[in-house]
Amino acid sequence: MNSGYIDRKEEIYKVAIIGFGPKGLYGLERLLAEINDKIPEQRIEIHIYNRTKFFGSGDVYRNDQPQFLLMNYEDKNIDINIEEAPKMIANIASFSSWKASANSFQLASNSIPYYSPRALVGSYLEHSYLELTKACSKNITIIPHIDTIVDLKVVGTNYAIKTENEDWGMDRFSKILLTTGHFWFRPAVSKASNRNQIEFIYPVTKNLKIINADTAVCIKGFGLTFIDTVLELSEGRGGIFKTKQNGDLEYIPSGQEPSKIAVITRTGLPMIPRKGNKENTTQLRYFTQSFINELLSKHNINFEKEVLPVVLKDMYYSYYEQLFARYNNELRFNDDFKLVEKQVLDFHVNNDVLAFDWKKIENCFYDKSMLTSGDIIEKIRQDIFDVEKNTPICAVYNCWSKISPMFNELYVAGVLASDSKHKFDSYYFGLFNRLSYGPPLYNMKKVLALAEAGIINFDHIKNSKYHFDENLSKHILKTGSISSEFDMLINATIPRGDSKKNRSQLFTNLITRGIITECIENENDEKSSKIKMNTFGNPINIDGITLKDITFYGTPTEGNTFDNDTLSRTRNNYASSWSRSVVLDILKMKKIETI
Ligand SMILES: Cc1cc2nc3c(=O)[nH]c(=O)nc-3n(C[C@H](O)[C@H](O)[C@H](O)COP(=O)(O)OP(=O)(O)OC[C@H]3O[C@@H](n4cnc5c(N)ncnc54)[C@H](O)[C@@H]3O)c2cc1C
Repeated sequence: MNSGYIDRKEEIYKVAIIGFGPKGLYGLERLLAEINDKIPEQRIEIHIYNRTKFFGSGDVYRNDQPQFLLMNYEDKNIDINIEEAPKMIANIASFSSWKASANSFQLASNSIPYYSPRALVGSYLEHSYLELTKACSKNITIIPHIDTIVDLKVVGTNYAIKTENEDWGMDRFSKILLTTGHFWFRPAVSKASNRNQIEFIYPVTKNLKIINADTAVCIKGFGLTFIDTVLELSEGRGGIFKTKQNGDLEYIPSGQEPSKIAVITRTGLPMIPRKGNKENTTQLRYFTQSFINELLSKHNINFEKEVLPVVLKDMYYSYYEQLFARYNNELRFNDDFKLVEKQVLDFHVNNDVLAFDWKKIENCFYDKSMLTSGDIIEKIRQDIFDVEKNTPICAVYNCWSKISPMFNELYVAGVLASDSKHKFDSYYFGLFNRLSYGPPLYNMKKVLALAEAGIINFDHIKNSKYHFDENLSKHILKTGSISSEFDMLINATIPRGDSKKNRSQLFTNLITRGIITECIENENDEKSSKIKMNTFGNPINIDGITLKDITFYGTPTEGNTFDNDTLSRTRNNYASSWSRSVVLDILKMKKIETI
């Protein structure tokens, strides 16, 4: 034995996962697989920290939320399994198989086809966590902590963690994975209720409890969070949606709904709903891998000039391919887009049908400075019709979900010009989300039913002037000649992960300590920033050194990566590289010690 030998078999290697929603769970799964494959003897403690008791499900999928809060991601896409070596240490069913099993039947009975309640998905994630812990070998100890991490510091070659409950603990960690997700990017969300305002709706039952039947409510935002809000204020208050003979819904009020619900947004545009259970058969013709490869060799790419036109070519082509087919015609592909346009021109001469009009798709209300409830109801009805009948415009909506993974390559490579990236982040990201990642059709039918029943009013939706009247203690909206008073303003928007405004205490402290630094993309925009990191999620500290023992995964990487709002196991997957780095670190340590 060498004189410097330390029997590390007896020493415990400690790892921490901070934030244990789905991404923390994915990190744990990969780590267990790597350890099992390469270092089955080493004693390892894995400390997992989560703000709540919902380990694996986190805030978004916690299983105590109402069943009417639905996924906008189809059942068939939800699966803890990953096709990657080393294989998982436990055999866990996909979500669909698990849902079909006897155990989950009761929970599943409320769900609508294809889109499940988020609570049910949470139960699946928690079940997956349990299965992994059961399958763990003896050398691994998983230690869950229900606590919020507020700070982190370097101690020698390791890290110490400060929590809300325990101050600086005694444990020292060699590697840390940060998967803190969305919500707690926001500082002290619960502080918000001065000025009759609800800053954050989740968990809905608790945070919207103060709204009662006399309250007049104004909701800011018209996306998925808006839908969760109005469902809690209607169905959550005992109202019932009845299915009519034609498949539409009718709302039967309970009398406990707020006295008035208005909505304010910038554009007034609703999200396009999705039907589900349909393979997206869109075939991209112009936005191809070779197009991306060509762009990857460039720098300072202008999204609007070099990328968007190709996105639009595919949207155009997909639209007319469907439309031609409906008229028993065939659109013939040509690399030369002019020859495609020529076929379309000829087609329109003979057929009086709606032409592809990007300006209208982008914003059908572009020429209206004010909108009424009637305008919005008509638009929602049209969208529901299109999606139900799968009209050619749906081919346009389907394009982005096919384009997005390839566009992600460009985004992550950092080849977009700074100004142009900012334009994408602040405008196109939301636009494509609205067109392609909308709510289940069933939920949009509920919104329509609520509007038709007069529960929701859209007359203030666009260009309304807002102020808070201190004397009346009311929120006032003025749109044209209509003025209305509201008791409560609800913020139904979710900030993106790169929003500087919404940093949590942990991230503020990490910046103060210089462990992370921010890269301001656009000097004119104080709000947006991203954490400087390499392509494995390791932050670059204030001295320009890459901290390889810390890894970010999911929302905190936003800005460096694109679109982490997903349960996908493969999108921007830093869990695999992190777990490999943990195992390599242990192997390296052992090698040094046996010399
Ligand atoms: C309302 C809503 C609905 C959504 N619906 C869908 C959907 O239908 N389909 C879909 O694919 N995606 C959906 N998403 C996107 C969603 O963000 C991802 O699916 C997924 O939740 C991301 O997982 P995550 O682990 O990165 O983050 P999260 O799910 O947010 O989990 C992070 C966890 O870390 C904890 N945490 C944070 N900070 C700390 C700290 N300092 N100390 C200790 N714990 C901490 C949080 O409490 C939480 O439990 C939705 C998002 C929201 C907000």
